[in-house]
Amino acid sequence: MTKRVLVSGAGGFIGHHLVKYLAHKGHIVRGVDIKIPDYERSAAEEFELLDLRHPENALIATRDVDEVYHLGADMGGIGYITAFHADIARNNMLINASMLEAARLNRVARFLFSSSACIYPQYLQRLADVFPLKEEDAYPADPEEGYGWEKLFMEKLCQYYREDYHLETRIVRFHNVYGPLGTYEGGKEKAPAAICRKVAEVPDGGEVELWGDGEQTRSFMYVDDCMEGIYRIMRSDYSGPLNLGTDELVTINQLADLVATTARKRIVRRHNLSAPQGVRGRNSDNTKLRNVLGWEPRTPLKEGLPPTYHWIESQLRKAGRIPEPAQSRT
Ligand code: NAD
Repeated sequence: MTKRVLVSGAGGFIGHHLVKYLAHKGHIVRGVDIKIPDYERSAAEEFELLDLRHPENALIATRDVDEVYHLGADMGGIGYITAFHADIARNNMLINASMLEAARLNRVARFLFSSSACIYPQYLQRLADVFPLKEEDAYPADPEEGYGWEKLFMEKLCQYYREDYHLETRIVRFHNVYGPLGTYEGGKEKAPAAICRKVAEVPDGGEVELWGDGEQTRSFMYVDDCMEGIYRIMRSDYSGPLNLGTDELVTINQLADLVATTARKRIVRRHNLSAPQGVRGRNSDNTKLRNVLGWEPRTPLKEGLPPTYHWIESQLRKAGRIPEPAQSRT
């Protein structure tokens, strides 16, 4: 059935993809952000520039919609979220409280909140060879400073609004999303995009800087899986927090090697031990996700990285930052 939906953060990476996905499914989509998408025109029927930290703007954004996919947030990669605890926590606290209250006042039927694996306790993530994180591992709480604490509190706020006001909330804990059309430079980019950019910019045999010793581990979810997961979770009856990620655990060194293979280049890894590396290891336990949805993200890195790498490479080529490939002679 066609619904009127709002995507907040529609100028950002996941929000932009989600607008396209929902519009393609036949829904009437309004996108809201403080900026338009960086790389492509939005597929939203309406796109409004609004600062959602202000309650009056959140009320405008959520008018006349059935559902809200709330993705708008002040966020970035590990360098960004470890550098700006106060700004990130304050901005997201204001955005999230404004959006939930506006959704209630405007009688929105369903509200999906994009939480993060950064809410999981740091004491469970001190080894590279980690146990995958289950939803109930979130407590006793010891999340990432700033960004993680704010996400965890918003999860609670969603629960309180559901209990006290019967607003149907859904909580999705994303684990590292990557894919084309995502930020790849400027400080807000995440590891896969940053590594793709660095590999694209060096010649065959060149040196690529990695943060930390590269033995820290993560799992990465391709953006198409993320779309399907978000949509399925919104439609489900389950209102507790759910992981959305893959359990394909790799080290950052392995990720860099996979990117190099995609690029058909040899690289020399140079480790910057003074750069932030985040937790030592993190993986997603998808047992609950499988039980609730009968589905989980499946795209392996070796399939998701090529479109990501080639998109970033094409962007750098368009900007004249890497040479055109040599013409093959016939
Ligand atoms: P993104 O930074 O590309 O998108 C977030 C968007 O929110 C940006 O376009 C930004 O301009 C917008 N925004 C910031 N402040 C705003 C404000 N005051 N008013 C309106 N809009 C504002 O990030 P993303 O990767 O697309 O992430 C989307 C959501 O998913 C975020 O809530 C993020 O915390 C969460 N998440 C993402 C990942 C990931 O790997 N990308 C992992 C965990 C959680």
